[in-house]
Amino acid sequence: MMEGSEVRVRFAPSPTGYLHVGGARTALFNYLFARKTGGKFILRIEDTDLERSEKIFEEQLISALRWLGLDWDEGPDVGGPYGPYRQSERQELYHSYAQKLIEKGMAYEVYAYPEEIEELREKLLAEGKAPHYTREMLETYNTPERKKEYEAKGLRPAIYFSMPRKDYVIDDVVKGEVVFKEGSVGDFALLRSNGMPTYNYACVIDDGLMKITHVLRGDDHLSNTVKQVALYEAFGWPVPVFGHVSMILGPDGSKLSKRHGATSVEEFKARGYLPESVINFLALLGWSHPEGKEILTKDELIQSFSIERLVKNPAIFNPDKLRWMNSEHIRKKDLKELVSLAKPFIGRDVSENYLEKILPAIKDRIEELSQLPELTSLFFERPSELPEKTPEAVETYEALLNALETVEEWNKENIYAVFKTVMKSAKLKGKDFYMTLRLVLTGRHEGPELIDILEILGKEEVLARIDNFLKS
Ligand code: GLU
Repeated sequence: MMEGSEVRVRFAPSPTGYLHVGGARTALFNYLFARKTGGKFILRIEDTDLERSEKIFEEQLISALRWLGLDWDEGPDVGGPYGPYRQSERQELYHSYAQKLIEKGMAYEVYAYPEEIEELREKLLAEGKAPHYTREMLETYNTPERKKEYEAKGLRPAIYFSMPRKDYVIDDVVKGEVVFKEGSVGDFALLRSNGMPTYNYACVIDDGLMKITHVLRGDDHLSNTVKQVALYEAFGWPVPVFGHVSMILGPDGSKLSKRHGATSVEEFKARGYLPESVINFLALLGWSHPEGKEILTKDELIQSFSIERLVKNPAIFNPDKLRWMNSEHIRKKDLKELVSLAKPFIGRDVSENYLEKILPAIKDRIEELSQLPELTSLFFERPSELPEKTPEAVETYEALLNALETVEEWNKENIYAVFKTVMKSAKLKGKDFYMTLRLVLTGRHEGPELIDILEILGKEEVLARIDNFLKS
C-alpha cells in the first residue's frame, strides 16, 4: 500500500437486484475499516451491464445501505473529488485510458463479432486447450474487409489487453499468498464492441483513479485479481491491498441462496430486524471480535475491527443466530424507541399509551418485529375459543368475577390479593386456576405473565372476558 496515504476503500455493487447478505457484508467490512482507520468509504455503482442494471435497483441499494447506517463519504448521490461514481457516466475515461494502453503497445483492437470469439473459445476447448486468446489469434479477424464492415455498420472494434505471460503473486490479507502461474490467463477484453468496458477493466480504472488503497470483497473475485493486477502494472499505478473473504454458506453447507430463507437486507428489514442486529450479524460472518464478544453495537464494531481478524474459512449463515441477536438488540431499546419501532409492525390503529403498556410485557419474546401482530393480538381481540365450562370452573370464576368487581385501584398488588382470596375456597387447583384463566382471557396456553395481562387489559375488559366465558 502507498506509504502514509489515508485508507480509501469502496463498495462497488452492480445494480442488478436486492442487496444480499454477501454484498451487505462486503459493504460493512469496507465501512468498518474506513471508520476504524479514519479513512474514506466510497460507493461506486457498477452499472455497465446494460441488460441487467436498473435504476430502481440502484435506488434500492442506496436505501438499504442507508437503512443499515453505512454512510459513505463519496458516491453518486453525495459526489466527491473523484467522480462521477456511476460507471455509466465514466465512458470517456475508459476509452481514453484504453487508448493509452494501445499507444504503449499493451492493448490492441479486435474486429471479431462476439459469436466468433465464442467459436474460437469452443475450438480451443475442443482441442483440449485452455480458452486463452493470444494477439495472433485475435488479430486474424482484423481484415481490411472487416474493418470496412464495422465502419459501415457504425461499430467499434473491441479492445483487448495483451496479458503479460509471467507468474503473478498476490499477497492477499485474507487468503495469504496466491500464485497465478504464467499462462493461467490469456488476453482479455477491456472494451467490448458495443463500447462498454468489461468489469475487470472498469474496476481498475475506477479503483486506480479513485485512489483506492484496499480492496475487500468476496472471493468469487479472487480469480479476477490477476487480470486487475496486470492492468495496474500496465498503467504504472500502485496495486491496492487485496483481501478476499470467503463466500457465505447456508446452514447445510451449500452456497447461500433463496432456499435458505430471507437473505436480502430488504427482507430483513421487512421482517423487523433492526439495522444494528443485521450489522452485528453480518460482521461475525467472516470476522471475529478479539475477545469473542458476540453482541456488539456499531461503535464497538468500529473500535474492534481489523482486517487481520478476517477469517479464511467460509462463514455459515445461521438464521437462528440472527433472530437471537435481534432479540438481544431489541431488549436494549428503551420504551420510547421500542414504541416507534413497533408502530409500523402492529398492523392496527393503537394509541402510544396502550403500546407503552403492552410492549414491556412482551419485549423479551420478540425475535422479529413482524411477530408483533401475533404477539399482541390478545390485547385487542377476545378469544375465539373458550375452555370447557365445568361446574368447578363456573363456581370459581363467578367468585373471581365478583371479587374483581370490588377492586378499586386496578394494579398488580390488588389483583394478586383477589387471586389469593378466591383461590382459598376455589374448587380448582392453583395450576388449573391460572391456566384456565389464561385461556378465558387470551384463548392461548402461552403468553405474557398472567398478571401483566390482567393489568394491561384493564378491569372492564377482564370482567367482560370472564363474563363471556360464564355465558358461553
Ligand atoms: N460490481 C462487482 C460486484 O458486484 C464489484 C466487485 C469488486 O468489488 O471489485 O461483484
